Amino acid sequence: MPYDVSVPPVPRAAARRRPALAAAGLVAAVCLTASGCGGDSGQARPHPGGGAASPSSEPSAGPSASAPGGSAAASAAPSSGPAGTPSPPRSSPAAERPLPDGPLSGRTVVVDPGHNPRNYQHSREINRQVDIGTTHKECDTTGTSTDSGYSEARFTLDVSHRLRTLLEARGARVVLTHDDDRPYGPCVDERARIGNDAKADAVVSIHADGSAVGNRGFHVILPAEVRGGAADTSKIVDRSRDLGTRMAGLFVRATGSAPSNYVGGRSGLDTRKDLGGLNLSTVPKVFIECGNMRDPADAALLTDAGWRQKAAQGIADGIGSYLRAVP
Ligand code: ZN
Repeated sequence: MPYDVSVPPVPRAAARRRPALAAAGLVAAVCLTASGCGGDSGQARPHPGGGAASPSSEPSAGPSASAPGGSAAASAAPSSGPAGTPSPPRSSPAAERPLPDGPLSGRTVVVDPGHNPRNYQHSREINRQVDIGTTHKECDTTGTSTDSGYSEARFTLDVSHRLRTLLEARGARVVLTHDDDRPYGPCVDERARIGNDAKADAVVSIHADGSAVGNRGFHVILPAEVRGGAADTSKIVDRSRDLGTRMAGLFVRATGSAPSNYVGGRSGLDTRKDLGGLNLSTVPKVFIECGNMRDPADAALLTDAGWRQKAAQGIADGIGSYLRAVP
């Protein structure tokens, strides 16, 4: 969820895991519906799942403890540093690691795993108000979780790792806004700044929603045109819509999932003006809510490693399609 009420802590998954390494072929963008292809000018609206997560439920170790997931090591590339110099650690900036030549060579993609698995331990810090240009918002939120206790923050990291592997295999330089390597956050303004400072060609923020049971499917959130303070999305609205439309169509193709049945008029697209991570971005950026963690049927998908790989594939295909289409 881009923002939501607090949810209880979820035990950290025990181990890093290895994702399938898929060689991804780029495919043409497809459109979901006439409105998805054309001009859904959806109004910004309150987050549909803003109050759906149950703060009182006590999640236990969920599917995250046993399902295969993302692996930092799996996407590590060998060092090509000068002879005698030590190999850079996996945490080195992506730019320091050699990348294969591919269709995305020379392009930079920032991947933003929504929330942070330890945000719940830092209520004071994440509740601090930050300036998002048009207004002030909390630094960050805890995110939601499935009923079985698989947290959104773990989901977003897992999908982000898989996505990084796929994009790097195509030659892209990938920057993660965080990699479970900080106690909380980053704050939403910093998440935007990381994309801006990287001069990213595309940015995607990975999320899963926390809405009512029966609400199913994914949606991509596009930036509305906003101006205020440091926020000015006028230069990124069109390109972000292009990115998001391609991503939505290719997410359907990769996962077989249907667009949301509760937001976006089944176009798979929503437009919002209340998200700092979008308002403060100066580079093309979208959010994707991959499914609804509070719905049992969607949760069964979100907790399945094979499905998460398909989700990452769809997102990577959308980014690849967009980057091939723009100079
Ligand atoms: Zn979220």
